Amino acid sequence: MLPILQTGHPLLRQKASPLSHSEILSASIQELIQTMTATMHKAPGVGLAAPQIGESLQLIVIEDRAEYMQHIPKTLLNLQERKPIPFHVIINPEIILVETEEKKAFFEGCLSIAGFVGLVPRALKVKVNCLNENAEEMTIEASGWYARILQHEIDHLQGKLCIERASRRSWMTTENFLKYWREKPIDDIRREFPPEIS
Ligand code: ZN
Repeated sequence: MLPILQTGHPLLRQKASPLSHSEILSASIQELIQTMTATMHKAPGVGLAAPQIGESLQLIVIEDRAEYMQHIPKTLLNLQERKPIPFHVIINPEIILVETEEKKAFFEGCLSIAGFVGLVPRALKVKVNCLNENAEEMTIEASGWYARILQHEIDHLQGKLCIERASRRSWMTTENFLKYWREKPIDDIRREFPPEIS
């Protein structure tokens, strides 16, 4: 596993390069996928983009496990439409459709902004074209929390972080989030941190 770069590192602000079919199948990229997976599990996180460990490549690993949801209230999980997502690899992703009509704001953090979370509005549905670790083409249709994870990770490949998508007023330490906000109904929180103040 490798250390995760923190915000301020210039590499997190670069556009990542796409991978060719032969690069994807090479030993070095297959090894990088293993390292990224171990790093994501150790963190733990539900997704990791290659720039976060210092490789400016269009490569993402994602896995959302049931055990990560154990301490989140069921009502919130339902509102978030959060369900376990099996491990998979996403390469050269292209968001081909975003349902922008309705966005929902939830607290979101990033392994590259350790110790902070903020209220981030995101589209509820996305469709993504990409390659997998065998360089095979895939189309992913995602909704709910999975759609949020995809938008967050694909942002990383464009040099974007969730900081600039969050309501500024809502930006807080994870410690205070857990202490003061986690149990509050999300609608009350959204009223407290309206998007127009961001
Ligand atoms: Zn992130």
